[in-house]
Amino acid sequence: MNLNEKDHLLTVIEEKIVPEYGCQKAAAPTDKKSCCRFGYAIPGARAFFDTADATITGSVVEYVEAYVFDASQENCEKCQEKDGISVTPEQKLDENFMKSLGFYLQEDGVYRPHPNCKCVWKEVKRTVDLSDYSWEKTNSAALATYTITVPIPNFYLAANLVAELAKIVRLDVHEASNWMQNVQVQPVGKQTTISVDVPNVWLCIDLMQGWAKWWKDPIVNIGGTIGQAVSYLTTYGMEEVFCYSIDEMYSAFKTYQHQIWGFVLYAHGDKIGGIQESNRKHHTTQAKLMSAVDQQGYKLAKVYLMQCYSGRNKDLEIRYTYEELWNALLSKKEKHQKEIEHWQTKTRAEFMENRFINIRRNLMSRGEGLTYKNGSWNENEIYFLLESQWDTVWGKRTVKGKLDISYQGVNALGIDWGFWENN
Ligand SMILES: [Zn+2]
Ligand SMILES: [Zn+2]
Repeated sequence: MNLNEKDHLLTVIEEKIVPEYGCQKAAAPTDKKSCCRFGYAIPGARAFFDTADATITGSVVEYVEAYVFDASQENCEKCQEKDGISVTPEQKLDENFMKSLGFYLQEDGVYRPHPNCKCVWKEVKRTVDLSDYSWEKTNSAALATYTITVPIPNFYLAANLVAELAKIVRLDVHEASNWMQNVQVQPVGKQTTISVDVPNVWLCIDLMQGWAKWWKDPIVNIGGTIGQAVSYLTTYGMEEVFCYSIDEMYSAFKTYQHQIWGFVLYAHGDKIGGIQESNRKHHTTQAKLMSAVDQQGYKLAKVYLMQCYSGRNKDLEIRYTYEELWNALLSKKEKHQKEIEHWQTKTRAEFMENRFINIRRNLMSRGEGLTYKNGSWNENEIYFLLESQWDTVWGKRTVKGKLDISYQGVNALGIDWGFWENN
């Protein structure tokens, strides 16, 4: 090793490795994100350079397996008798060990038997193509464990390996530091075994239990797809977690935080991002569901939103006639008795203005995914112009940038969009 080697290595890192893997200069050493010994962190990689003398080009790792003492240029007996002695890079860092072999650190930083010696250490290099080795799923629970063994001593979780793992588990490589957990790097003789836990929960959220009793309209693709989706995924050994209510759904997102890989949701959906259980007792919104997803800390691999309008991305005109609104009240007489009595003493215009204000407030508070553009009312009709961007905003939460299954679908659900329950 000469003094320029470090500079050379830094150049290689700066010019080749950093651009290729998008490494970033690491923050303070107290930063939880570990970094390589050169002060770089690969976004997504937790483990780091442990091997000083390795360079990676593409998927090929070239590393120094050993240093051999070469005394061929020297006539001195002291040196000659050491000719051919081989040490590992690790041993070469151990001054006491080197002394025990009769090598002493000289002023130029090189171990030699005595000062003014001209002998050199020759590197014995070895190359390993990482693409010849693959991750294996070695345990499957809420977190799945993936393990790989590479024939390189003291290796580390290199960016290539992270990228390969991301490809296998179909999560975003740039978020690997968020979804990789319990990274273990185990040197075993001349090999290194690395294991990583990754999210492995597939949530099956079926809010349509008993839907037929309550709902006359055909539900998009009910029955078939949830079964298909689940059995398709089962072949990948996902941990399936079933939820049958909105409460169960949200508690599952908490219980399995950082362990959720994807989910399928069957529910009633409406154009403005409402999500309802089949008995329509409980109600939530796409925006709330998205924030539950955001708590995972990474984009999900697969999201099937099977409710109507789940992926609707367009301008949305909503109109309500006086009759619709009034009948909506009457249809829930017991619940709205007082309200009905109140409005029976008022004018039609007063009723419509009140509905307009309530509905507009509701629409404007829907959060991400729905933009209120315009609205008007008269005593016959209420009109709103909105823009929904469900596919777009969900896309930010999925690795592929879009929902795996979603519906622009129009299913004339009429007036029962859960406004009243929400007000
Ligand atoms: Zn000598
Ligand atoms: Zn010598």
